[in-house]
Amino acid sequence: MTRAFDGDTLLVATHNNGKLEEISALLADFGVSVVGAKAMDLPEPEETGTTFVENARIKAHAAAQATGLPALADDSGIEIDALDKAPGVYTADWAETPNGRDFVMAMTRAHDELVAKGAPEPWTARFCCTLVLAWPDGHDEVFPGTMEGRVVWPMRGDQGHGYDPIFQPQGHDVTFGQMDRWQKNRISHRADAFARLVAGCFDR
Ligand code: IMP
Repeated sequence: MTRAFDGDTLLVATHNNGKLEEISALLADFGVSVVGAKAMDLPEPEETGTTFVENARIKAHAAAQATGLPALADDSGIEIDALDKAPGVYTADWAETPNGRDFVMAMTRAHDELVAKGAPEPWTARFCCTLVLAWPDGHDEVFPGTMEGRVVWPMRGDQGHGYDPIFQPQGHDVTFGQMDRWQKNRISHRADAFARLVAGCFDR
């Protein structure tokens, strides 16, 4: 049995306004008001974990301890099977440059490593999103979400973000980069994790 969220304010442990808006919209039906880490002046903790769960836990517990509010955090990325599940928790790191994030560079690296390894197609992969809801007393609930698919090359589509142009979800013949936001949000790893969160902690 998961612990129900019965407060009226939820802290979302992200400095990303896009994520904050998405989560606020999702929880609007449950009468929950959502506040972001930026508004609370919270520092961004170092993501020292080696799994999505560890990193989401670090962010959620740091925020809950600092504010005394229940806090929700997520960590996400892409696992490419033939690359031993890389980049995984280092998905964003592969895009880092001194001048900001460059996802074309990151996607090219993924493709180049697959070719260098001689990995046979299909290049199976999955997007993962782990949500952690942590309470100030140290309790937490973990909700993993995934979307299976494969890496395709060349990149296709200019919608979405991150690695979307090289990820073709199972059962579809277009990439996430070719889907509109509405279509992607119905099937994505994030939607999967959110559905589990709502069923576990909000849908009472
Ligand atoms: P974090 O969860 O903010 O640490 O970063 C996750 C990384 O995975 C980012 O670099 C994202 O671009 C990438 N990522 C996560 N979800 C998606 C997605 O739905 N599409 C494309 N890239 C994603």
